[in-house]
Amino acid sequence: MPKTPLRSAEPATIALAASILADGGVVAIPTETVYGLAADGLDPRAVARIFAAKGRPADNPLILHVAGLAEAEAIAAEVPPLARALADAFWPGPLTIVLKRAAVVPEIVSAGLDTVAIRVPAHPVALAILRALGRPLAAPSANRSGRPSPTRAEHVLADLDGRIDLIVDGGPTAHGIESTVIDLSQGEGAPLLLRQGALPREALEAALGRPIAEGGAEAAARSPGLRHRHYAPRARVELVAREGLGARAEALAAAGVRVGVLARAPAPPLPPAIPTLAAEGGLEGYARELFAGLRTLDELGVARIVAETTPEVGIGRAIMDRLRRAAEG
Ligand code: AMP
Ligand code: MG
Repeated sequence: MPKTPLRSAEPATIALAASILADGGVVAIPTETVYGLAADGLDPRAVARIFAAKGRPADNPLILHVAGLAEAEAIAAEVPPLARALADAFWPGPLTIVLKRAAVVPEIVSAGLDTVAIRVPAHPVALAILRALGRPLAAPSANRSGRPSPTRAEHVLADLDGRIDLIVDGGPTAHGIESTVIDLSQGEGAPLLLRQGALPREALEAALGRPIAEGGAEAAARSPGLRHRHYAPRARVELVAREGLGARAEALAAAGVRVGVLARAPAPPLPPAIPTLAAEGGLEGYARELFAGLRTLDELGVARIVAETTPEVGIGRAIMDRLRRAAEG
């Protein structure tokens, strides 16, 4: 029997979630990216429970989720015109904007930085809970730190049963990959892409009308979370281009390695002894199934996962970022 209740996202569950959160509890909620582990973002003791449940390093700051731009203005020192334009274009949606923080934001949320990461999620359940609570929610992905992010309520249960107060089941998440993070805290002239995510960089650049700098030492300095171990299943992950997938999996199997394959449909023809997951729906479908596929192959007991690489365009950029980190172990 699970120790943490898992309830489908009907109105009574939303009311229960809001009351647990108002009392300083931690609740896993669906968003359009991945499941988030939510707590009252202005209550340092509630936020501390997120870090404890996940085993998250204290130097990795959390994203504050709010119901709209007006609520974002209350937690940022200032919302510059560029941030306002991106919020108008992409909120609610999978874009997180880093701004200078207001004094109400607890130190623990920002991990001691002078900034705060803010997002308005585009999920009716997440928004209903935010409105019922009337306060920002700190909500990192609802997995044990280092593990693949959860895209179904069952993934949350597998990682956090007994460690959190409630899981709200809203079904599989739409994007399957976390939000894109852009830092606008250093002024209008210096937008910096800190994390690839469900909102493609191309869409951001089209909205801004210019290229955005990305990554590098500057991003690592501004976003400590980038340094940590991430997204790793128990099996070792190997990245292989489509043409070589089948041959590599067969060679590993022939050498006695228990191997599974994560690919885009159509599946490469392989013997039935090699578990092969093939995601339909192009790059979006692959993104949606990526973390779930890593977890499924783990459950099948494979020691090695051969995962198909993708072109680095659109959401393919975020897919390759997650796959590389998964392969680092
Ligand atoms: P998660 O919610 O677990 O997917 O991780 C949140 C991501 O946002 C991590 O990469 C954090 O490092 C990043 N992040 C959160 N707050 C900030 C901030 N104030 N400045 C820079 N990056 C942040
Ligand atoms: Mg995470």
